[in-house]
Amino acid sequence: MTAFIFNELNFDNHEQVVFVSEAKSGLKGIIAVHNTNLGPAMGGCRMWNYASEAHAINDVLRLSRGMTYKNAVAGLPIGGGKSVIIGNPKTDKTPALFEALGEALERLAGRYITAEDVGTSPADMAYVATKTGYVAGLGDSGDPSPFTALGCFVGAQAAVKHQLKRDSMEGLVVALQGLGHVGYDYARRLHAAGAKLIVADIDEAALERARTELGAEIVSTSAIYDVQADIYAPCALGATLNPDTLDRLKVKIVAGAANNQLATADVGDLLRQKGVLYAPDFVINAGGIIKVCYEYLNKPQADVEAHVREIGDTLAEVFTRADREGRSTSVVADEVAEARFKR
Ligand code: NAD
Repeated sequence: MTAFIFNELNFDNHEQVVFVSEAKSGLKGIIAVHNTNLGPAMGGCRMWNYASEAHAINDVLRLSRGMTYKNAVAGLPIGGGKSVIIGNPKTDKTPALFEALGEALERLAGRYITAEDVGTSPADMAYVATKTGYVAGLGDSGDPSPFTALGCFVGAQAAVKHQLKRDSMEGLVVALQGLGHVGYDYARRLHAAGAKLIVADIDEAALERARTELGAEIVSTSAIYDVQADIYAPCALGATLNPDTLDRLKVKIVAGAANNQLATADVGDLLRQKGVLYAPDFVINAGGIIKVCYEYLNKPQADVEAHVREIGDTLAEVFTRADREGRSTSVVADEVAEARFKR
């Protein structure tokens, strides 16, 4: 038998990794607390039909580390964590499953606070909440996506100012991939600011709405990488910045909401060499977690927007420092986060 967690690719001195299970509900989950130097670890619960337990472990290690960086760079008083439930979110969900997760969180006594994520919903979190208070982003709290979209918009403004030396979005062309909860709201803001939109999605209704409401030009999901535009805004999938798309993209800026946009870490530097300004994903897409964190900590909702707008200032600092030091924005953003959470 091979013990492999400490040698796992994504293991990064996580404080605690807890395997949780419960026979009656069939719960099989993993909670990873990456770092709590800034406060209790917060990050969503993903439910996924993982190909193997190793895939689930790797995912929770990677995602929880990412939350530490995202929360730190956003200036939130929380650490980074994540949980995964192994199972099919379409067929395996029961109230008992999420109640059992709630009991497991209660045993961690607040070291990790969960929320919804891919494969889970506010309704699932309501079952978690019957067993523990260590859960955020409940049904009545509203959708955090508009705040993620606001963060993307102010992030794009900062990128335009830095890269194109312009204060206005008027007439800029944005190639936007994914008109979902975040992408559509971001597109709406870009349109209102005078940008021209070229959009791609697999959802015909969303495309039609963007065409009629926002005057967007529609292209295929493959052609979105090839269009002539100023900004590429990935708001659907991860890993869309890779050697293949890098050869095709004709933009000067990447500013979008998707998580894990770089297929591999070196792509950050390849973008720099190509003269493309990359707004690191975990900096620009933190609007949603800012909103959820304020709610959980009972901080005034009236202050959320101002905090989200600080994403623009943080990015401006990252861009300037990356230029000065001749390094990729992604590496510099990592260092900004580390300076805050590492002891
Ligand atoms: P969503 O599921 O509402 O929207 C995703 C959209 O992408 C959908 O319209 C879908 O049809 C479209 N899509 C799927 N495959 C596509 C493809 N191949 N080409 C083009 N479009 C495709 O998700 P969301 O909540 O809007 O999140 C979008 C991205 O932002 C995700 O990567 C998510 O992890 C990230 N993110 C979201 C938030 C948030 O607050 N919702 C916060 C941080 C990061």
